[in-house]
Amino acid sequence: MAAADSAELSDLMAFLDASPTPYHAAREVGARLARAGFGLLEEGAGWNLEPGARGYVLRGGTLVAFVMGTIPPWESGFVVLGAHTDSPNLRLKPSPELTQAGYRQAAVEVYGGVLLTTWLDKDLGLAGRVALAGGRHELVRLPGAPFRIPNLAIHLNRDVNKEGLVVNPQHHLAPIWGLESSGAGSVLELVTASLASTPAAGATAADILGFDLCFFDAQGATLGGAGGELIASARLDNLGSCHPITGALLDAGDAGATTRVIALHDHEEVGSQSSSGARSRLLESLLGRLVTSYAGAPADALPRALARSLFVSSDMAHAVHPNYPDKHDKLHRPLLGGGPVVKVNVSQSYATDAVAQGAFVEACRAEGVTPQFFVSRNDQPCGSTIGPITAARLGMRSLDIGNPMLAMHSCRETAGAADPAVMRRVLRRMLVEPPLRDPAA
Ligand SMILES: [Zn+2]
Repeated sequence: MAAADSAELSDLMAFLDASPTPYHAAREVGARLARAGFGLLEEGAGWNLEPGARGYVLRGGTLVAFVMGTIPPWESGFVVLGAHTDSPNLRLKPSPELTQAGYRQAAVEVYGGVLLTTWLDKDLGLAGRVALAGGRHELVRLPGAPFRIPNLAIHLNRDVNKEGLVVNPQHHLAPIWGLESSGAGSVLELVTASLASTPAAGATAADILGFDLCFFDAQGATLGGAGGELIASARLDNLGSCHPITGALLDAGDAGATTRVIALHDHEEVGSQSSSGARSRLLESLLGRLVTSYAGAPADALPRALARSLFVSSDMAHAVHPNYPDKHDKLHRPLLGGGPVVKVNVSQSYATDAVAQGAFVEACRAEGVTPQFFVSRNDQPCGSTIGPITAARLGMRSLDIGNPMLAMHSCRETAGAADPAVMRRVLRRMLVEPPLRDPAA
C-alpha cells in the first residue's frame, strides 16, 4: 500500500471543507483553475479561442474546463475526465418555517439517496445560493452549525436495536434550530444575516426571491486510523473524484496534442436530468464550440472528434466492508488504500469496455499502480454513474473508475488516505498521453 501524500491530503480536506454544496464546489474548482490562468468564459458570449487556450464555464453547480490541444480534435479527439459535484443531502423547502411542540424547526426535502439515519445527532450547517431582488444571486454559508435532528431516546423506542430505525422522511427529519420561547426570528432571517459580508449586505428576508439551500455536516474532514491511513468526511462521493480530476488537469500543464476537458456535473444523485446535469447538452455544446474554434474546421468536425475521444467517469467505488464481506463478490473486493478501482457491469450500468479499460490499466501500469476491479454480485442490483449517460448521449467511448470508499451516501463517509494522490497521477497520465491508439476498435 502506498503511503499517504500529506500535502495532497490536506489540500483535499481543505477542498471538502470549502465545498458544502455543489455550487461551492464548482466555484472552488473555478478559483483553483483561475489561479493557474484559466479564464472564466460566459456561455452567452462569443468566444475567440486558439490552440493552447485554457478556460472554464460555470453553470450553477456544474463546471466544465478545457485546455485546447495543438492538433485539431477531429484528428486527435478529446480526453474528458468526468465526475459529479453533488451529494445526497437535506434541502430547505420553499416555505421553511416550522414550529412544533415548542420548537423552531426547518422544513426539509430529501435530495438523492440519503442514508437517512446518519443525519441524526449531527451538528448541521446550512449553505447554498439565494436569488435576490434585482436579478442578483449570492452563495451563502451560515456561520456555525445551528441545526440538529435529535434521535428518539431508546426508552421511547424500545425495539429499535432489534427492528432497526425507520425514519419517515416527512415526519422525522425537520432539524431543530431553537425554542419558540426564545423569540428568535426565522430561518430566512438567519440566511440574510449571513449575507452581511457579501455585496447583498442589508438584504431582508423579503428580498430573498428563491433559494437552493443544503444542510451539511459541519464537522470538517478528519484523518483516522492509528497511522492516519483513513479519511472521514461528508461528500467524499464525489468530491473525492472532483479533487484529483482538477489536480490532474493542473498537473498536466501546458497544452499537448489532444484537447483535455474536465466535466464536473451537478444532479448526478437525482438522475442527471437538468440543464446542468450529464443528460444536458452542456458538454456537447462546449465540445462543439471548441472544435469550431480551430481554423478550417470541417462540417463533420464534432462527430469525427467524438469518434476519437475517451470519457473517463470517476465516481467513488464500494470498498469491501469488514463487517459485511459477503455483500461483495469474493473475487472483486476493492480495499481502501488499494488504489483506483475499475467498475465493470456487462448490462452497461457502468460504461467500461475492454478497450477503454485497457487504456486505463496501461496508464496505471506506467505509474506503477495495480488497479482493483469492482463488479456487483449477480444477485444484487448495480448502481450507475454519469459514465453510461455520457457514453449514450455523445457516443464517446467511456469507462467507469473511482477510488474505494465505505459508507457511501452516509452523512459522513470513509475512504483511504493514500488513494487520492494515486488517482491524480493516473488521471494526469490519461490527459498527457492520448490513451486511445485505435479508436475504431
Ligand atoms: Zn457518486
